[in-house]
Amino acid sequence: AVTLAGVNKWYGAFHALKDIDLVVRRGEKVVVCGPSGSGKSTMIRCINRLETHQQGRITVTGMELTDDPQRMRQIRRKVGMVFQQFNLFPHLSILENCTVAPVWVLGRARRESEERAMHFLDTVRIADQARKYPGQLSGGQQQRAAIARALCMDPEIMLFDEPTSALDPEMINEVLATMVELAEAGMTMVCVTHEMNFARQVADRVIFMDHGEIRESAEPDEFFDAPRDPRLRKFLDQII
Ligand code: ATP
Ligand code: MG
Repeated sequence: AVTLAGVNKWYGAFHALKDIDLVVRRGEKVVVCGPSGSGKSTMIRCINRLETHQQGRITVTGMELTDDPQRMRQIRRKVGMVFQQFNLFPHLSILENCTVAPVWVLGRARRESEERAMHFLDTVRIADQARKYPGQLSGGQQQRAAIARALCMDPEIMLFDEPTSALDPEMINEVLATMVELAEAGMTMVCVTHEMNFARQVADRVIFMDHGEIRESAEPDEFFDAPRDPRLRKFLDQII
């Protein structure tokens, strides 16, 4: 579903992504970890073109990312993104947050959009919060609302960038549980996270990035129990 081939990105003179090769097949779940500044966010932001790469090719559901705005709109619709900060619209209710893009971007009827939104809010177990505003919800509830909002666009792939790292500990598990359910429902997922239990539970593959490179890519058992890259071994010692 997603392919990166020989992708390089620079911020000015700084080489942020170095020859990244990555294939995420339909239904696959890939967890990305690595030290701060290693390029994890940059990589997933390049997948939905929040950042642009300068060399190499990125394709999403068979379409190559280019500067053609119409194609970019098509591709963005297929990619849902959930950030560390929930990025909900503060002046819209939770329900409105979930319907604004389906109505204005997909051109769906409001009534249908609201029914679908309520379905996904129910899936993430916050249907009872639909009429509230983001500021009235807990962090965990806001993050689940952000996941529901992304699902309302029928994405073919979901990108998560440290979705639990801004949450209080007691709220992390409710968001992870939602992500596990999504994974079990067959969603294609790329998740930047340091939640290693989540990685063991759902990942088909875990990737370790360091200094803009993918240093290791392996199934969870091998990744955690027999890491080859010395920097990964050090990283795992620090976080586990
Ligand atoms: P973290 O775990 O802290 O979120 P990360 O692995 O997500 O780190 P990135 O945010 O991808 O790292 O950043 C990779 C490198 O690129 C860092 O050295 C960062 O300072 C640099 N960088 C990121 N965004 C920009 C930008 N807009 N302009 C210049 N440099 C940037
Ligand atoms: Mg980051």
